Amino acid sequence: HLGNETLKAELGRASWKLLHTTLARFPESPSADERAALAQYLALFARLYPCGECAGHFQKLLKEYPPQTSGRKAASQWGCFVHNLVNERLGKEVFDCMMVGEAYKCGCAEEDEKGKG
Ligand code: FAD
Repeated sequence: HLGNETLKAELGRASWKLLHTTLARFPESPSADERAALAQYLALFARLYPCGECAGHFQKLLKEYPPQTSGRKAASQWGCFVHNLVNERLGKEVFDCMMVGEAYKCGCAEEDEKGKG
């Protein structure tokens, strides 16, 4: 059904945007507590993702490739990597992970201070 496919794609785009932006803002040197929070956030994201078929695939992916929580760079690259695995499964183009730092801005404080945003 075309309508359902459109809705699923819209949900996917919004979700990836939030996920990549969250990872792009994760601390460069996270505390143990922040690292645990990210791991839990991602596990619950995968568990509660509203498209059940997608959630099932993504939970398997997380098992095979556990989230990298050591810092912003590792976390962002991990996010790009797993999104690319989903892209491949769906027959989509692979994204260049060198671009992931630049691609996800939130328009919030830390960026503003550096004159970026
Ligand atoms: P999207 O894949 O939504 O990407 C949006 C934008 O992000 C792209 O235009 C590009 O600018 C950028 N981008 C692309 N790749 C990367 C990357 N590797 N790193 C950073 N940025 C990137 N759909 C299904 O039909 N079946 C599924 O099983 C399924 N599982 C999903 C699981 C999860 C966890 C999520 C979040 C979504 C899932 N989706 C699934 C939706 C699917 O991944 C797409 O979001 C949807 O098909 C729309 O695709 P799109 O081509 O617009 O680009």
